Formats: sequence, C-alpha cells, structure tokens
Amino acid sequence: MPRDYYEVLGVSRDASDAEIKKAFRGLARQLHPDVTGHDPEAEARFKEAAEAYEVLSDAERRRTYDQYGDEGLRSGGYDPGAGFGSMEDILSSLFGQAFGGAFGGGGGPAPGGDILTQTELTLDEVSTGVAREVSFPAVVVCSHCHGNGAEPGTPIETCDRCGGAGQLRQVTRTPFGQMVRGVTCDVCNGSGKVPDTPCEVCDGVGRTQGQATKTIDVPAGIEDGQRLRIAGAGHAGEPGAPAGDLYVEVAVAADGRFERQGTDLVSAVRIPATEAMLGTTVTVATLEGEREIELEAGVQPGHEETLRGAGLPRLGGRRRGDQRVVVEVVVPTNLSEEQREIAERLDGTLEPANLEPQHGDGFFGRMRNVFR
Ligand SMILES: [Zn+2]
Ligand SMILES: [Zn+2]
Repeated sequence: MPRDYYEVLGVSRDASDAEIKKAFRGLARQLHPDVTGHDPEAEARFKEAAEAYEVLSDAERRRTYDQYGDEGLRSGGYDPGAGFGSMEDILSSLFGQAFGGAFGGGGGPAPGGDILTQTELTLDEVSTGVAREVSFPAVVVCSHCHGNGAEPGTPIETCDRCGGAGQLRQVTRTPFGQMVRGVTCDVCNGSGKVPDTPCEVCDGVGRTQGQATKTIDVPAGIEDGQRLRIAGAGHAGEPGAPAGDLYVEVAVAADGRFERQGTDLVSAVRIPATEAMLGTTVTVATLEGEREIELEAGVQPGHEETLRGAGLPRLGGRRRGDQRVVVEVVVPTNLSEEQREIAERLDGTLEPANLEPQHGDGFFGRMRNVFR
C-alpha cells in the first residue's frame, strides 16, 4: 500500500507548487547518497519522495490523485515510480540540471530540511502540559569534526578550484552571445575552503545521518492532530547555513474514562433503577482523582451532573472547561422469585404522582415538551 504523497513530502493538501518543490528539495538533500552513504533505506525513501514529487508537481496528475487517489492514477494509465533509473537520473529529469547545481540553490550553502515527527499524550498530560523527549532520525552536525569536514588536527586550506571565492564563472554560448553567470564551486560547495584531510567519520561532508533527541514543552490543552514547530531543530544545513525546523504532531490517546468535547469532558455513571428511586452516592473518576457525587431520589436516566472546572484548559488559556457526568439507569433483570414479588408489590402501589415526568430530565421529559 503506497503512503499518502502529501504525507511523504510533509506538506498540507493545499500546499502550493513552490512549497511542494521546496519540501522535495529538502528531502532530496537529506537523503542524498553523499549524506547517507548509500544507505538502502534512505535510497528507498528518496524514491518514494521522488514518486510523490512526480505526481504532485504535475497539476493534472495531482488533481487525479486528489479526487481518485493512487487507484485513479493507475486506471488513468499512469504508473507512479515506473521508469525511474538511478537517483541522478531522477534528479536531472525533475530539475533539468546536474544535482549539485540544482541543490546549491544558485549559490551559497543550502539550509537543512524540515522534519516531521509524532508524539502521543494521555488526557492527563493534556490537562497539565508536559515536557516530552522526542527522538527522530536526522541529519546532524558531525560530532567528530564539528561540521568543518576536516580530520581533527589537520589544516583547512583555501579551495584550489575557486581560489577561495566559493563561486565559479560559468560561460554559456547562446544565440545572443556568451552568457556568464556565477555558480557554486563544486569542490568546496561555496565555502571557499577544503579540508586537507577529510574527516574519517563524515568523509568531509561535515554532517552525518544520525538520531536527534529534543525535549519539547507541550502546552496544556493541546488538541489531537495539532503540530508544534521548533525552529532550527530540523536537519542540519550545509556548513554556514541554518538548520531546518522540527514539527511535532501530537496524538492524544483515547481515554476509557472520558470523552473529550473541546474543553469539556463527558463521563457516564451506571446505577440500578432501585438506587435511582431511592437516591444514592456514586464515585466518579475525574482528572484530579475520584470524586463522590450525591444523586437525589428520583434521578432520571440521562440526567447530567456538572463538575465545574473539572475539564481541560483551553490552549494558551487559564480557564478550564467542565466535566459532565451522565447518569445511566440499569433496569434489573433475571429477578428471583422473591425480588419479583417485591417488584409486583411496589408496582401495585404506584400512583400517577409517582410517575410524573421530571421536567427537562431524560428522554420522556424532553419529548413531553415537544408534544405539548
Ligand atoms: Zn566529520
Ligand atoms: Zn571552491
């Protein structure tokens, strides 16, 4: 089953063409064999990203995909990912240039790509907010050479090819004459400096594929599916360029005790019909532990007790919602002979006054208001 193309590129469904291109370039940069050392898993992810880009960068294919999905593309005679050759082929077919030129961005070192990761929270953590450690694969600054690409203790020299300028003059013949433009030096990648002895760990790139760990503050009141952005915590950029951003998508785990409705929590309590008649005290779970609630004699099914302020805070706010406790009344079944006699005796004594519907309570109370 192919993954969702928007998810693969980490963009929203209404992303612009420029955003899609930027996202793919970011991914291509971090999954490039120079960085990943021809890791087969990275190569597979790269092909997946290229396939997603091939579809989403074409207006017609994207429309088909949005409406009919992957099936729609195939039934339309298009086979995503087919005919892909080497990684270099993919890049030059997509950008019409050699890889280095396309990803140098026209001069200067390239910034790092963004990262999307996930974390799961319980409702209790949503209630208080939490500091959460997240760990994710990322391109990180090489810890051996600290990013300068040189084996520690060896000199860094001026680039021979560009004379330290970081740029090369490229002359192109066109029908209008010669055109001269500056392109990023392919030896020093724009920095103007090259290590005499490349770092053993990163091969002189200054960055490695690693695992990054970050502690993030998740604010109280966050909703399921919301994303937090941590600027500069994404993939490391080329030397001298900023890192990308980290996005953490929050999933809130289902809680068997409560249903969340915005800032309110709803829970249910079950009592037998006899306790509903006589009145009772019930114990209910709240986020702050168990609490006892008195239910008056004659409480009806569907009755709600409101615990003010026992809900969740609004994101960025102080006031809390409420917890609503819904009373569910269970009618006893499988009566013994003795129980049946008691019920029959009670039934024989009931007067119309005993059966007066309680205003506003339960289904029949509401129905009466409708029909009267
Ligand atoms: Zn290194
Ligand atoms: Zn150079």
